[in-house]
Amino acid sequence: MQREEWLSKSEKILTDVKEWRKAHPKATFVEIEDEVHRRMMQLEAQLLQDAAQESSSRAWGKDMGEEAPRCSRCQVPLQARGQHARTVQGNGGESVTLLRTYGTCPHCGESFFPLDEELALLPGTLAPRQQSHLVQLGSWMPFRHASRMLRELLAVHVSPETARRLCEDVGHQVEEQQTAEAHQPWKEEDDGRENDSCLVISADGAMVPLTGGEWAEVRTLAIGEVPTGPTSPEKVHVGELSYFSRLTDAAHFTELAEVETRRRHVIQAKAVGAVMDGAEWLQTLVDIHRGDAVRILDFPHAAEHLSQLVEGLGAGGRTFPEHMLERCLHVLKHRGPSPLLRMAERLPKDEAQQGTVREHLEYLRKRQALMQYPTFQQAGWPIGSGMVESANKVVVEARLKGTGMRWKRANVNPMLALRNGVCNQRWLETWQTASQQRRRRLSQHRQRTTQRQEVASVLPNPTRLTPAPVPPYVPLLPPEPPAMIAGTSRPSSHHPWKRSPACRPKPFAKT
Ligand SMILES: [Zn+2]
Repeated sequence: MQREEWLSKSEKILTDVKEWRKAHPKATFVEIEDEVHRRMMQLEAQLLQDAAQESSSRAWGKDMGEEAPRCSRCQVPLQARGQHARTVQGNGGESVTLLRTYGTCPHCGESFFPLDEELALLPGTLAPRQQSHLVQLGSWMPFRHASRMLRELLAVHVSPETARRLCEDVGHQVEEQQTAEAHQPWKEEDDGRENDSCLVISADGAMVPLTGGEWAEVRTLAIGEVPTGPTSPEKVHVGELSYFSRLTDAAHFTELAEVETRRRHVIQAKAVGAVMDGAEWLQTLVDIHRGDAVRILDFPHAAEHLSQLVEGLGAGGRTFPEHMLERCLHVLKHRGPSPLLRMAERLPKDEAQQGTVREHLEYLRKRQALMQYPTFQQAGWPIGSGMVESANKVVVEARLKGTGMRWKRANVNPMLALRNGVCNQRWLETWQTASQQRRRRLSQHRQRTTQRQEVASVLPNPTRLTPAPVPPYVPLLPPEPPAMIAGTSRPSSHHPWKRSPACRPKPFAKT
């Protein structure tokens, strides 16, 4: 559009609004806003369309006088194959139409629209920012609400089904990228970067409903920071929380969670506290990610066992003074487990051997070291795993456990990757991660197509083309470095246990 055209269009909007205001002297702010907005959106779409097309990649080739763009791999000029229009939705119900030349590389045969690549447009009718908004909304709320919100906020129309598909695609890309990152070899120099922070880690599981009436356990690791200065031991504030969640078994979860433990520098932190329930897999997780962490049995969990112990003794006929349990809990919290276990030692043998009593007594005896609550509190550690329980609610259940909600197993992890992104307040980064992975996939796909074509072109007899030779598989993930030193049974520097040589992990508990 020419400058004069622009000026007259802008002027017309100004005059229109003035006239409209004269005709509506008692209009409310919202009504005025609507009138102005509607006209401004027309102007925005036009400006966007003109500016986006102002590029040498739009119209090129023999008759256009513009040099042809080059194939990014072969560096040869593309052959123009006509102009095609593409319409993307502008905000406010407007549309933006781009007319651009399609090109083919004469060498590798790759065909694409150079302008679309230059503008980094994504597939579909939504502009990239609208897609980002839609996926972010879909990470917070059911897809039908996300599509409605997009319509209400931007007047951009998209079906709930498109919202679902887009969220799952983007989530898959984030998941793939994070899995690849978790498998990156550990760099020796990372070990040296000490920092002053004191971190708390905690992990737990939450159940999510799958299609077909099945339920599956999603594990979440929460990492937070505790203040290093003096604090009130009764109420330790854990801040800077971040989460990592996956639907997978304990061993894989422990491996994949490295993407978050590395990012939070769990290995370099001054000190780490691990507040957990007594499950074996959590102990292994701590062994691998920070072997020397201060291990703390979640206080409510210890209290639960103590309460059942007292109940068991009561059922066996023993009478207690009033508020016995409260007194025991007070002792446990402020003087540790020793006084209670000493008391238990004085129980008559037949009473201590009774089923429930023995079970809970053994549980508590085994975990004496994890229940030194006065020491932990004095050192400023929290003694309850509230942070991971709330993580289950906030990160997992708030989005994946709604009324009538059922998830395909394969779509749970993509949604969790998005949930982690929004709950860790890293939306922009999450979106960029997905974009990078999408470009990587596209380039791998093109590479494979080229290889197939190259193989086909060197075969002399077309009848020999069937079946087509399969090009070598390009793995999406970098190969894992060997965990063992070749020819020995010693772990290499890439072995995860190398980071906590003193604590060889126990076998995983069946869960
Ligand atoms: Zn090429």
